[in-house]
Amino acid sequence: QASRRFHPEDSVIKLPHSEIGAKTFTIMAGPCSVESEDHIRRMAEVAHQGGASILRGGAFKPRTSPYSFQGLGEEGLRYLRKAADENGMDVITEVMDESHVPLVAEYTDVMQIGARNMQNFSLLKAVGKTRIPVALKRGMSASIDDLLNASEYIASGGNTNIILIERGIRTFDHQYTRNTFDVAAVPVLQKLTHYPVIVDPSHAVGAWDLVAPAAYAGTAAGASGMIVEIHDHPEKAMSDGPQALKPDTYLTMTKRVAALRQCM
Ligand code: PEP
Ligand code: MN
Repeated sequence: QASRRFHPEDSVIKLPHSEIGAKTFTIMAGPCSVESEDHIRRMAEVAHQGGASILRGGAFKPRTSPYSFQGLGEEGLRYLRKAADENGMDVITEVMDESHVPLVAEYTDVMQIGARNMQNFSLLKAVGKTRIPVALKRGMSASIDDLLNASEYIASGGNTNIILIERGIRTFDHQYTRNTFDVAAVPVLQKLTHYPVIVDPSHAVGAWDLVAPAAYAGTAAGASGMIVEIHDHPEKAMSDGPQALKPDTYLTMTKRVAALRQCM
């Protein structure tokens, strides 16, 4: 179902306030985690100011350690939805567990499948039974074919509202970057599939000062958009602080991304 051979035109995902795919460039921005009602509201305003039409924020967090902050759960979903609505934005948030699909579906416009769950086949089948758009992240050790096969688990249930996210893969050097941003995955995936392909420069590089260069590269490579993490006090962030862009850095970056898009 993913193949361009059987579906030559670009697929476009339509949400209440935005579209993803084809000629448009869609920005999704927000903190890694929903931290409080007041915080997500302030971050939504910043995200919107930078041209984001979709608010991100995790309420169920797939943390590397079980002792790290796990997210606010349904309370977080409520704050996220409210902050997005107040700014006329759509919502993207991660669903980690098959049993949470109905709950998350009540609050979000796009369900994010995290890198660690890319091959959680029961979760993929569960979101495949809904008709809610699914943003599928490439697993950190997944090949491009692994990603496309994972997308088939969603599509085979009848849900072909799929967005693919390149978020960096593990290679051997972790000293300066968290992952290795596979920018060539963008045109490769676009050649192979009709699904919109976006980039996640935040998780790809893991350090705030490397996020904008990766974002520009992804934009220039022809991605249909990006998902980026922002925070007003990254040193106090409950997750992924080191890679969060402060508001002014984010706003400068989005201006340059818009200028780059003009040249394409
Ligand atoms: C996230 O978006 O905050 C996240 C956990 O991403 P990934 O699944 O790509 O690590
Ligand atoms: Mn994160």
